[in-house]
Amino acid sequence: MSAPPETAEAVDPIPILRRLIRFRSVNPPGEERGCAEYIAGLLAEAGIESRLLGPDPERPNLIARVPGRGEAPPLLLHGHSDVVPTDGQEWTHPPFEALLIDGEVWGRGAIDMKGGLAMMLAALLTLRARGEAPAGDVLLAVVSDEENGSRVGAGWLATHHPELFEGIPYCIGEDGGAVLTADPNRRFHPVGVAEKRACWLRLTLRGRGGHASRQGWPNLAVHQLTEVLTALRDGRLPVHLTPALDRMLQEMSTVVGDELAAELTALRKGERTTVPYDLMDTADAVYLDSTIRHTVNATIIRTPEKINMIPAEITVDLDGRILPGDFGVADYVAELRALLNEFSASGRLGDEVGIELLLEGSRNPKAEPEFGPFYERLVEILRATDPEGVPIPMITPASTDARLFANLGMDCYGWLPMLLPAGSRYQENMHDADERVPAEAVRFGADCLYRLLIDHP
Ligand SMILES: [Zn+2]
Repeated sequence: MSAPPETAEAVDPIPILRRLIRFRSVNPPGEERGCAEYIAGLLAEAGIESRLLGPDPERPNLIARVPGRGEAPPLLLHGHSDVVPTDGQEWTHPPFEALLIDGEVWGRGAIDMKGGLAMMLAALLTLRARGEAPAGDVLLAVVSDEENGSRVGAGWLATHHPELFEGIPYCIGEDGGAVLTADPNRRFHPVGVAEKRACWLRLTLRGRGGHASRQGWPNLAVHQLTEVLTALRDGRLPVHLTPALDRMLQEMSTVVGDELAAELTALRKGERTTVPYDLMDTADAVYLDSTIRHTVNATIIRTPEKINMIPAEITVDLDGRILPGDFGVADYVAELRALLNEFSASGRLGDEVGIELLLEGSRNPKAEPEFGPFYERLVEILRATDPEGVPIPMITPASTDARLFANLGMDCYGWLPMLLPAGSRYQENMHDADERVPAEAVRFGADCLYRLLIDHP
């Protein structure tokens, strides 16, 4: 593509980001109205009409449609304006003052995802400042409630206003832009192409109850609990080489050191089923471990609260995540039962334990991600803006609002590119204390998004 015209300075996303952080749109309760009205004002100044809609006046979603040149189908940019709470966290700098210190913007939402919203807005406003139109119409959806179920946000829009999204083949949302440090000298630019989905379960363990003064009953519920927790610590569900994973491993293995490359290739070929934790940064290894298999974590354990009584029943709530693709809850539960059998003294714990489904995340109707011209365009932009960086496809271990737009038939990509120093770990402060982002990283993302709007398939 041709270089961007230099007729007007690019709009700086940093003042927008800092203003957004100062709205305390903490969810719960949300209160995203301030953000939505501020964004509506910004857009109006640039001559872009928007409207606020939603079931709760204090928590509106903003929709704006910017007409394109008619050279491409419409494109959706979606971002959420709510943030997670800061309760109980010790911050070095206050989380809602958006201080700019040594080139970094500090505050809740700097990464997740007011930084991303600022990129999207700056890209759109730069177009307007330069008198340009995007290739196709751009629909901007700034939504509420992503951090708490999306019921008044993207979920409500998709259910009550699907017509807004008709004819849109592709969308851009959060994630991607994280930095993997599989090689400390390489800067990876992950492009989110697929997401895992939730499968929350409750295990019920039953055994003999009774007076807690007696020693020695076999196979008590608490003993089974030990086996469950040991299985979750030491065991793993099987590896599934999905197409997205295969491509991710293959592309990573071409740029990392020889030793790690050999291990990644062995994973691809099914010759090993464990992640080489010793060769990778732990956070990266944990990430990789979570994308090659369904995962399971015990999060809530309930027993009767009586110290002199052996509990006859214990429940263990599990946060399970299913890989993208054609996997169902039954497949997942079968793998889990096999794992529990393997780690139980009786060899039957998995068959005997009660398993109840608490919540199932919706399955992307397209089992496999689309690696067509749109994906290639994202990669091309990354290569042009950061020639030393390495774009790779990534599987998001959690789920975002993309799942709701995927249900409307769109191919969704997590693409908020950031130019971060190789080896930096900004992503780790998401949802934690000291969330912050380098201003230059956000400017880089705004530039990438601008290039996409100008010329997208
Ligand atoms: Zn987010």
